[in-house]
Order: sequence, then structure tokens, then C-alpha cells
Amino acid sequence: MSVERVGVVGAGTMGSGIAQIACLGGYETRLHDPIPEALDAGVERMHAALSKGTERGRWSEADAEAASTRLSPAPSLGDLAGCDLVIEAAPEDLELKRELFASLAEACGPETILASNTSSLPVTAIATGIPHRERVVGMHFFNPPALMKLVEVVFTSESSPEALDATTEVGTRMGRTPIRAKDSPGFIANRLARPYTLESLRMLADGVADVETIDRVCRLGGGFKMGPFELIDLIGLDVNLSVARSFYAQGGEPERWRPSPIQECLVAEGRLGRKSGQGFYDYGEEESSPASAVPLPRYMQQRNSGTGRPTLDPDELAEIDPAAPEILPRLVAQIANEAAFALEEEIGSPTDMDTAMRLGFNWPLGPLEFTDLIGAERALEILEALREQHGDAYAPAPRLRAG
Ligand code: NAD
Repeated sequence: MSVERVGVVGAGTMGSGIAQIACLGGYETRLHDPIPEALDAGVERMHAALSKGTERGRWSEADAEAASTRLSPAPSLGDLAGCDLVIEAAPEDLELKRELFASLAEACGPETILASNTSSLPVTAIATGIPHRERVVGMHFFNPPALMKLVEVVFTSESSPEALDATTEVGTRMGRTPIRAKDSPGFIANRLARPYTLESLRMLADGVADVETIDRVCRLGGGFKMGPFELIDLIGLDVNLSVARSFYAQGGEPERWRPSPIQECLVAEGRLGRKSGQGFYDYGEEESSPASAVPLPRYMQQRNSGTGRPTLDPDELAEIDPAAPEILPRLVAQIANEAAFALEEEIGSPTDMDTAMRLGFNWPLGPLEFTDLIGAERALEILEALREQHGDAYAPAPRLRAG
């Protein structure tokens, strides 16, 4: 199966970015949106992004020009006939995507690979009822597609190896790093990211430390680019909560994925994060940045390393904050636990799991590297002690017990 022509459906944030990297990857690309103004805006955004990339030295002017000429706007879905791969980036609505896939199956030949960029809907459900489901896969890009290197190639129980291999090759030619993910809640990256915010919210609820302290410990001790509460404020508390609810429902309501009551309350109060001016932090006239106001701990000044190298050394952690030796091991134990559950469910390979978190979320280490850092035995000890105190949110994955 060889792909030469790519169709992109939905010319919004993701669709225009995907079209851009398809054109840069050398594919003749057709971009469709049913709303003419949205299509025009998407085409315009793509050309603007290509020019901006040239100015910033990301690609040459000649490459940008060549990429521009590869794009054709496709006002009707029928214009996608003849595409070898169609990537759908329409709104996140199951019924809408189902109808769209049925129409695409009619408009394109049975050989055309149909890929969805959904972040949270089961690809299997999107493909229900259409003919030749072996050519249906997920192709999950991250925002913005032109800057985020990761793409998850999602397989259902029906996806053919040929369709998956061809999609993977396209991802590579688009300049991304493709990983293989099973069609399961949130695929790999969004799922493995769950403990970062959920466990932090639980620590907040348990009074382990306040918001600023947990954020600071995660940045300075954990090597994460942003603390969990800074991240939730950026994403939007409502968006993060709806992701949490979707995981909880799709996963069969496991305790460790239960949405946080604190977050439910804040959303009900309209504290939605940066966009509403208040979330976990207050973004009044001047944006609060409590992190920068606090000096770096001594061991980091000595090494002059800034953030980046995670540590679980209790002495190093204690220099950040007296609560840090409790906060970080607890968080890392839950990261290791989620990875162990994910491995049991065979949602992807260990290497792909680490790649997913490094590239998709800029984590300093992948979850299995974090597991090595803490050691399965210690993670298990921490989880069992927490389970006694707080219940099944800390039930360890059997695989962790197996070492
Ligand atoms: P968006 O709202 O920016 O764009 C959606 C586009 O789809 C709009 O241009 C709209 O006009 C068009 N559209 C509406 N109805 C349509 C239809 N029936 N057929 C085709 N197109 C239609 O949304 P987005 O942020 O680009 O998200 C698109 C998809 O990508 C969603 O499934 C989303 O979950 C997924 N996704 C989004 C992100 C993100 O951070 N924004 C990241 C990864 C995946």
C-alpha cells in the first residue's frame, strides 16, 4: 500500500496543521471543510504557518513554496475521491464522525485508508457499520501538529497490518515519530498522563501540600516543564475535567481514575483556569508566576542544571521543600502503576510508552524510566501503604507485584 495523495477533513486547528505537515512531507494534499469560511481560514492559516516557519529557519523558502503548491482546497467531500489516505479532524462528536466515515466510505474507494485524529473516542465506534473496516485506523496528532513530534497510530481489532504500516510511513514522512497504540481509552499518551494531574489533585485534597508547593516540587524535583496545577490552568479546568470524566466512564469507573471533587467544585464556581482569569492560580492584571519568585534549591544552583533531571533522593528533595520527599515518590509510584496497568492491557510497547510521554508531554523520563528510577518494589510499598489509608485508588497493578 503506497500513499501519494492525502485528504484532510476539517480545516480547524488540527486539520490545517496536519495538512501543513502532509504538504511538507511531499504529499499532494486536499483539505476539506463543509463550512466555506472555515476552509478559507484553514488554508490561510496553513500558508501563514509555512511563511512563519521559513522566517524561523525551520525549512527553506523553496520547501515552503513547494509545500504550498501541494495543497488543494476541497469544498466537497467528493473531492477526496482518489486520496490514498484521508485523515479526519472534525469536531469531537461520535455521531458526527460516524456519519462522516460512512460518507467517506462512499466517496472514496475501498482501498482508501480512513484515519481519525480523535483524542478520546473509540476508533472502533467511529468505524461501526462502514464497509472494509480493515482500512480504518487512528492517527492521533498532538497540538500543534507541526511542532509536536508524536503521532499515535491506533489499531483496532480489525485494522490490517498493511493499513497500519502505510499510516506509519506517512507519519514518518510528515516528520513525526509514530508509535503504535491499541484502540483503548485515551490511547497511550493521554492515558499515561492521567496520574500527573489526578494524583496531584488527590495530594491537594489530602493536605499533603498546597498548589504552589506541589507544582514547584514537580518542576524542580521531577524535572517536569510545568507543575500539574499550572498545566490544568493552561488546559482549562473544565476541559481537563471532561477528559477525566471520559476516562472514568470508558475505563469502567476505576477508583484511580475517579475525577477530583476539588476540580468539580472549582469548575462549578466558574474557575476555569487562565481563560477565566482564575483557576488554581489567580491571573488578575499581572499573571501570577509563583514559581519564578522562589529561588532554586542549592543542589540545582550548584549543578546549574535548571529543571530536567528528576531526583528521588530524599536529601535533594528536602532542599526543595520539606514535603517534597513525600510528594514526588507518591506521584512517581502512581505513574509506575498506570504504566504497569497499561503494559498488562498491551496498549503499546514499553519503548513506545516512554517515547509517548517524552514527545507528547515533554516529560523528562518516560513512565517506565520513572519505574526504573523508583524501583517496582518501592512503588509497590508506597501504593500499599496509601491503599490502607485511602482505598482502592492505590490498588497496585498485579504486574508491579510481579516485579
Ligand atoms: P476545530 O474546532 O478547531 O476544527 C474542527 C473543524 O471541523 C472546523 O473547521 C469545522 O468547520 C469542521 N467541521 C465541522 N463539522 C464538520 C463536518 N461534518 N465534517 C468535516 N468538518 C467539519 O477542532 P480541532 O481542535 O482541530 O479538533 C479536531 C479533532 O482533533 C477532534 O477530534 C479533536 O479531539 C482532535 N484533537 C484535537 C487536539 C487539540 O488540542 N485541539 C489535539 C489532538 C486531537
